[in-house]
Amino acid sequence: MTTLLDEMKALIALKGPITVERYMELSLAHPEFGYYMNRDPFGATGDFTTSPEISQMFGELIGLWAAEVWSSMGAPNPVRLVELGPGRGTLMSDALRAARIVPEFRAALDVWLMETSPTLAAMQHELLLDAGVAVAWAQSLKEVPEGPAIVIGNEFLDALPVRQFVRVNGQWRERMVRLNDEDGLAFDVASAPEIYIRANAREGEVLEVNPAGHRFMFELGGRLVKQGGVALLIDYGHAVTGLGDTLQALRAHRYVDPLAMPGECDLTAHVDFAAMARSAAATGAAVYGPIDQGDFLRAIGIDLRTKALAERAGPDRAEELHQARNRLVGKGKGEMGALFKAIALANRRLPTPPGFHPVAARPA
Ligand code: SAH
Repeated sequence: MTTLLDEMKALIALKGPITVERYMELSLAHPEFGYYMNRDPFGATGDFTTSPEISQMFGELIGLWAAEVWSSMGAPNPVRLVELGPGRGTLMSDALRAARIVPEFRAALDVWLMETSPTLAAMQHELLLDAGVAVAWAQSLKEVPEGPAIVIGNEFLDALPVRQFVRVNGQWRERMVRLNDEDGLAFDVASAPEIYIRANAREGEVLEVNPAGHRFMFELGGRLVKQGGVALLIDYGHAVTGLGDTLQALRAHRYVDPLAMPGECDLTAHVDFAAMARSAAATGAAVYGPIDQGDFLRAIGIDLRTKALAERAGPDRAEELHQARNRLVGKGKGEMGALFKAIALANRRLPTPPGFHPVAARPA
């Protein structure tokens, strides 16, 4: 049976080393063998667990957040509710259920799921069949019809391919993937230096750039500025741009060598929120955050919701709810409250999105 590893080895043998960016892109999105293309990677039996899969509260709170945003936008009808990389569709399903308490919002919704994987799109379709709201699929933001939009995305940006540069002999060289002597893959650096990168760094340091992330932030910010709307992006990453290799591969909830099994493990890189914010702000959109996921969820009411659900549940279920809340909000080891961050983009005419702090006025 051919695997992605075989395909990549053939490609490299033919054309020479490929960039880390290309390696990541092929690993995740190769039409036949890409990681997301033909599997359900989530949950206990999969490779990793995301916030909406940990607790229904995550999607419910985001659904209520969206309803409040919609009302602050002047309650446009229709409004495009767009989710980026919806995985199993759990977040959207929980969000739409919670939004039942705002029937006018539900009635105005035109839901779009931006998904590249046919397998996951089919799962989303199945889960949302009886959501009572029209749902359509798109491969890119351009396909979503014009008009005011509320855009949400959890763990979307971390799946976009990054370029890496390594400091070698006082110069930056792009990190590449080549064949090694044992018929496997190994990291290497390009022979020519990248003379346009000015950052200084110690020998061996790695600098990451996410070109697809930047392109996406330009597109998203531009759309919100022109057509109105608000976006919420949650991901794991750092608030301040820094150096370091954050490429990581997860298989069955364990870290594995990112080159060992392309297409068979989840491959991600931490999101550089400061860099993403710079691109978004360049479009004229207002950018809020990043703030810690824990602070965001508390600000939009996770404590009250945990309490309300726990009061109606039996003791085991109540304990489960408290544990899920702690995992999403806590800032200790193994908890997601500080590791994950939230950022919002909005049209400047709109008020600060719920859960975020107002930002200082942009200098003229
Ligand atoms: N938001 C979900 C899933 C996160 S995993 C959750 O929190 O559980 C990443 C998701 O993004 C998957 O659904 C994957 O198929 C999708 N994806 C990855 N790259 C994409 C791209 N370029 N465009 C659209 N979707 C993408």
